[in-house]
Amino acid sequence: MIYQESKILLEVCGLCATVNGIEILKGINLTIRSGEIHAIMGTNGSGKSTFAKVLAGHTAYKITGGTVTFEGKNLLDLAPEERARTGIFLGFQYPIEIPGVANNQFLRLAYNTAQVQRNKDELDPLEFDDLVREKMKLLEINPDFLSRSVNENFSGGEKKRNEILQMALLDPKLAILDETDSGLDIDALRIVANGVNQLANKDNATILVTHYQRMLNYIVPDFVHVMESGRIVKTGGKELAFDLEKHGYDWVNIEQPAIAGT
Ligand code: ADP
Ligand code: MG
Repeated sequence: MIYQESKILLEVCGLCATVNGIEILKGINLTIRSGEIHAIMGTNGSGKSTFAKVLAGHTAYKITGGTVTFEGKNLLDLAPEERARTGIFLGFQYPIEIPGVANNQFLRLAYNTAQVQRNKDELDPLEFDDLVREKMKLLEINPDFLSRSVNENFSGGEKKRNEILQMALLDPKLAILDETDSGLDIDALRIVANGVNQLANKDNATILVTHYQRMLNYIVPDFVHVMESGRIVKTGGKELAFDLEKHGYDWVNIEQPAIAGT
């Protein structure tokens, strides 16, 4: 939602990045204010996941130009874990499995690390259990999640729900969700979307990376950006997602030949 007293959280100017010497991001500009939900859409291979990983500080990508500030700080100077500590959360397109590490231990460690960073009290296992069960109820997650290894033998939908649970516990200022809708059936999609909606407030912001409009029936974005060849080539309101659904991504090129041709 757009609030009158919002402040700029993230400012990306002319961001360029390479991987293995190949230029993938070619000048991204994006401003995100508190309270906003932004959708980034685009064809496969347009650079959406790369952008998300670059924001989170993935070390495989080299920044070759531009600036990124988060709450006025130069984000590009920070290591990935420092970025997480300042309140950036990245939900992965393909969440990793950590066999042998119980989900509740993992979640408590992550939660307590965030608490220390915020000068707040850490929770002992019993206190944490109360908190995590409350969040799981909110997100309609089965309590047996807690004793299972992190994401091991989780279905696609369970992994995504587990990511939203991590997000609910960490309470990030900027959540970046990469294709959280992929592989979800309609019930899981509704639950994940509900979780995202419940966590969104006037002080935080969400970037939803998605190929399909489907997710946006449940989470209504304030802005929709279309990415192509490593650039944002079109920005609009929520209706842009419907236009894309109706006309396909090629329609953007017909609409904006000048940008597509550069
Ligand atoms: P999207 O998420 O929009 O589908 P990606 O960001 O995953 O797109 O990929 C953008 C482009 O970058 C693709 O052409 C992909 O092949 C390329 N790419 C991504 N990662 C690597 C890598 N590690 N090595 C080489 N090319 C890569
Ligand atoms: Mg991707």
